[in-house]
Amino acid sequence: MRDQTGTFDRRSYLKLAGAGVAVTGLAGCLEDAADDDDDGSESGGDDETEIVAGTAPGFPPFEMNEGGDLVGFDIDHLEAVVAETDYELGGWNEYNFETLIQSLESGNIDVIAAAMTINDERKERIAFTDPYYSADQSVLVQTGGDFQPSELEDLSGRQVGAQSGSTGEGIVEDEVDGAEYRSFDSYVLAVGELERGTLDAVVLDQPVAKTFEANRDVEIAFTFETGEEYGLGVRQDDGDLQSALNDGIAAVQESGEYEEITQEWFGE
Ligand code: GLN
Repeated sequence: MRDQTGTFDRRSYLKLAGAGVAVTGLAGCLEDAADDDDDGSESGGDDETEIVAGTAPGFPPFEMNEGGDLVGFDIDHLEAVVAETDYELGGWNEYNFETLIQSLESGNIDVIAAAMTINDERKERIAFTDPYYSADQSVLVQTGGDFQPSELEDLSGRQVGAQSGSTGEGIVEDEVDGAEYRSFDSYVLAVGELERGTLDAVVLDQPVAKTFEANRDVEIAFTFETGEEYGLGVRQDDGDLQSALNDGIAAVQESGEYEEITQEWFGE
């Protein structure tokens, strides 16, 4: 990651770049000194084997920002996977889930590790590795609240939240007639409204729903099978990285490290 070679870390660089024309000259110097990309954009690693990962914290236990530290299953898993390859992980960038795919396409990151479900719509824009985790969807409600739905139909006429760009959002929009859909940048915000009683239900991945149930004043009303599988996302023209990551995923599974990481984040 070029920002490790310069005076500015990635965030301050991006902030400066966002501040406008005044920093163009400075940014240009940094780019010239440390980057051969011809489009001058902030992209993946300087040398060909260094990659930058992107994730969307607020999705426990897969990715959380705890006191400024990015932690979670996806963080440990990707780091273990990359350690099995000839690539090096230069760092992590954090985004709202909805902007991850465009950040990958524009080259700000090289790999998405964000509990992202492999599906055809996404495959039109990006490529995925082999699956590394399976999940269904759950409906969360306020603990002990009046609203206790038992099937998707019961959400009709209710205020239902999900995270922008998620498969949970797709379910509320496409499969629940007459729900009043409210989108949130992060599930943490949606769960906050649920606790306060200003939202009736939230649709989200079951392992994350369980984590919120254990830590917040919300409970799973019911779970329904979607058979989703998470994959790491890469650019479609990054076939070398994709196959290296696939080998890494297999190696981490075979070595028992996958089981250790799972125990760490999901163990009782
Ligand atoms: N698995 C869901 C999806 O891919 C949610 C992922 C997330 O919110 N991080 O849409």
